[in-house]
Amino acid sequence: MSNPADLSLPGIANLHSHAFQRAMAGLAEHRTHPQDSFWTWRELMYRFAARMDPDTTYAVASQLYAEMLEAGYTTVCEFHYVHHQPDGRPYDDPAAMSRALAAAARDTGIRLTLLPVLYMTGGFEGEPLSPRQQRFGHDVDGFLRLLELLRRLQDDMLRVGCAFHSLRAVPEEAMRRVLEALPQDAPVHLHIAEQVPEVEASLAVRGERPVQWLLRRFAVDRRWTLVHATHLDADEVRGIAASGATVAICPTTEANLGDGLFPLRDYLDAGGRWGIGSDSHVSVSPVEELRWLEYGQRLASLRRNVAASGAEPRVGRALLAGVAASAPDASGFADTAGDRLLLDGRAPQLAGAGAGDLAERWLFAGNRPLVRETRVGGRLRVADGRHVDAEAIAARYGVAMAKLLRD
Ligand SMILES: [Zn+2]
Repeated sequence: MSNPADLSLPGIANLHSHAFQRAMAGLAEHRTHPQDSFWTWRELMYRFAARMDPDTTYAVASQLYAEMLEAGYTTVCEFHYVHHQPDGRPYDDPAAMSRALAAAARDTGIRLTLLPVLYMTGGFEGEPLSPRQQRFGHDVDGFLRLLELLRRLQDDMLRVGCAFHSLRAVPEEAMRRVLEALPQDAPVHLHIAEQVPEVEASLAVRGERPVQWLLRRFAVDRRWTLVHATHLDADEVRGIAASGATVAICPTTEANLGDGLFPLRDYLDAGGRWGIGSDSHVSVSPVEELRWLEYGQRLASLRRNVAASGAEPRVGRALLAGVAASAPDASGFADTAGDRLLLDGRAPQLAGAGAGDLAERWLFAGNRPLVRETRVGGRLRVADGRHVDAEAIAARYGVAMAKLLRD
């Protein structure tokens, strides 16, 4: 028998989540257009976003966060933009949707970095939001009021940062005003350079690529997380790495949406910091994100062990070290020593495993979930592979899904 202490690993931070999209996982895998793409998927996503309310958001996020804990995530950064009622009017409590997410995190026991998203325009030229985007929108003053309200909820399990949806959706002046008002300890996240048409539109309107534009105009540093950053030129790769910012790579979603492959090896060679996110939740598993991050690189480069280096030749350990190094800045949680996973010593995949090969055995030995226990802040949240409230959470999720699919 192995000593259980040998099968313990730090919890993983999930740097990018849109909780409501968990409810549409698997529902967009049919052809709607001869050239299906991110942009046709987005139409379906908008229809789904229109159905969410605070109750269904709570039920869906609770199921999602319980699954995250079962899979080994102990922190989630929630990039939250569905703020208002479907017609765009604020709820009586303008933070009702944010509070639903905070309640789901508190009740399941995952650490939450809530990132309310500023979303103002429908394109680089300041186009107005479309009817379906109305419930995402704020002006700067309204957004700052929401931030202020949410920051009062912070405690040792909840951090409040801020997010800009993308450079398409937030004018430069609005970004500056928010950053001036934002406390220095708040993480800042934004989607950037996920799709080639976004890079082309930025070049056409601003004469610069999105990352190039951002790095020249803003003091991007360790508090920033750039989500996706898929399409980069060599200067942008070096520029992000030198800034100290984190790139949140979301391999299963980027594959699902046909985004492209992040230039991982060049970025690591430049000393870049990175983490992973499950984003649209077509998969809720750090194993799958990290495995496909590495496998994508192998398929493209015709090499093996791409994320490994001279200093850390073991690829699993190199991957886990990468996600651990960026988590405090990207999430705002500095002390997560009590966030631990215990892998299942009874699993054949781990027979004879020890500290020397545990990371590789976890990440590269099949699909049976191997997390047996998850503790967050020392508290047991997953026992014998199941969230301690799994049944009640799943029952509530089933009711919410019936409602969402009926409406
Ligand atoms: Zn996203």
